[in-house]
Amino acid sequence: MKGQILIISGPSGSGKSTLLNRLLKDEPNLYFSISSTTRAIREGEKDGVNYHFVSQDEFQKGIENGDFLEWAYVHKNYYGTNLKPVLKALDEGKIAVFDIDVQGFNLAKEKFKNYITSVFITTKNQDELKKRLQKRNTDSDEIIQNRLFNAVGEMEHILEYDYFLINDDLEKSYKGLLSIVRSMRLKSTNIPLRQTIDEWIDCK
Ligand code: 5GP
Repeated sequence: MKGQILIISGPSGSGKSTLLNRLLKDEPNLYFSISSTTRAIREGEKDGVNYHFVSQDEFQKGIENGDFLEWAYVHKNYYGTNLKPVLKALDEGKIAVFDIDVQGFNLAKEKFKNYITSVFITTKNQDELKKRLQKRNTDSDEIIQNRLFNAVGEMEHILEYDYFLINDDLEKSYKGLLSIVRSMRLKSTNIPLRQTIDEWIDCK
């Protein structure tokens, strides 16, 4: 497989989706992995664009059929990365982008370690995250408390990631993310070694 995987994790509300949407518009040859979830659809979201919104039964069948590269129970809902489209993207030499949590990242590493570059994105502090979640106005107070609690747990895993971005300035964070993707493209592991050497020798 010629492609690579870019994993983005971090608390919901950290601005991950905003950064990712911009990246997907600007950069060619990226494939955004659309996860399946049992979570209720939010206002402004579209089925098949943000997520595949499925029932618990459908999700369970997906697990039994081995449809998921990884799956996890996050904020009282199931979320899973669909394996087939990711394998296709990797075969086509694309960078497959996953927005998944820390548990999913660790599971993905078990199978795809050599393909993965990982980034953890967060806010400058917990209070800022709380404000953003409240402003977004998509979750009840109880769910916001749960998301904040999980965010604290996720912060413990920062060091497992290759890169760490504090998203307190969108432009600066975006430039950082862009540099990461561009450096992924320059990795020597991307080079077709034999062909590169042969072409280099042939051209005297
Ligand atoms: P949200 O409900 O805010 O869209 O996402 C909640 C959390 O689930 C986020 O941290 C997001 O990264 C994570 N998530 C989304 N899709 C997946 C997935 O397919 N697998 C795993 N493990 N986590 C996911």
